[in-house]
Amino acid sequence: MRKNIVAGNWKMNNDLAETSELLNHLKMQLVKEPTAEVYVAPSYVSLYHAFQTLKDTPVKVAAQNMHFAKSGAHTGEVSAQMLMSTGVNTVILGHSERRAQFGETDEILAKKVTAAIEAGMEVIFCFGEELEERKGDKHFDVVKSQLENAIFHLSKEDWKNVILAYEPVWAIGTGETASPEQAQEVHAYVRKLVADKYDSETAENVSILYGGSVKPDNAKEIFGKEDVDGGLIGGASLKAIDFLAIVNAFE
Ligand code: PGA
Repeated sequence: MRKNIVAGNWKMNNDLAETSELLNHLKMQLVKEPTAEVYVAPSYVSLYHAFQTLKDTPVKVAAQNMHFAKSGAHTGEVSAQMLMSTGVNTVILGHSERRAQFGETDEILAKKVTAAIEAGMEVIFCFGEELEERKGDKHFDVVKSQLENAIFHLSKEDWKNVILAYEPVWAIGTGETASPEQAQEVHAYVRKLVADKYDSETAENVSILYGGSVKPDNAKEIFGKEDVDGGLIGGASLKAIDFLAIVNAFE
């Protein structure tokens, strides 16, 4: 059966000292057997430290991005192989901030997805519509094409290392959350797309996270929906007490 997962995306927040403090708080306050798998995604410069700090805990460390090339003349970039050499085996790809601020297209994302999976990494693949698309009732089409263009080229076997994250852009960092019903509707649609493309086993086994203004006070209701298997948390993951309340929000 698929796993419940809560992942904290720290974005471009926290220097090394602040990261260290947050990691120590998480480590101290995390219950022995959380009801969800827990991931944190600090910035590149803190990844190795995070891995070292958390290696004896169930918390996994993820990167927020990577390049699709293995190495070479790509100033400022980091490869899957480099991430893995620091103990980091998971990468978030396709976040709407990468798409909007750094021009990451479906085509680039397809290459990144392939590179990560070929390197043996696990991918948290983000997708979701913008406000105008939601208003125009285009969200199903947008989500479908994002998946078809950037991740449906993988094989069924590859999907063992895929986690999906539906993140409606209008709900990210805005305080406006999709209602549990809106999330469920898209998650069920996505699971059906995966079933049609691959098979029902693949669809049933893939965890689909919701992201966008998840907080301790709304997590339980959102995670209670049948096809919502957890969350990708931005703002609320920066405080250990809030993040752990979300980690513990499963029934
Ligand atoms: P938020 O961010 O929780 O601050 O809305 C979610 C995300 O960007 O993954």
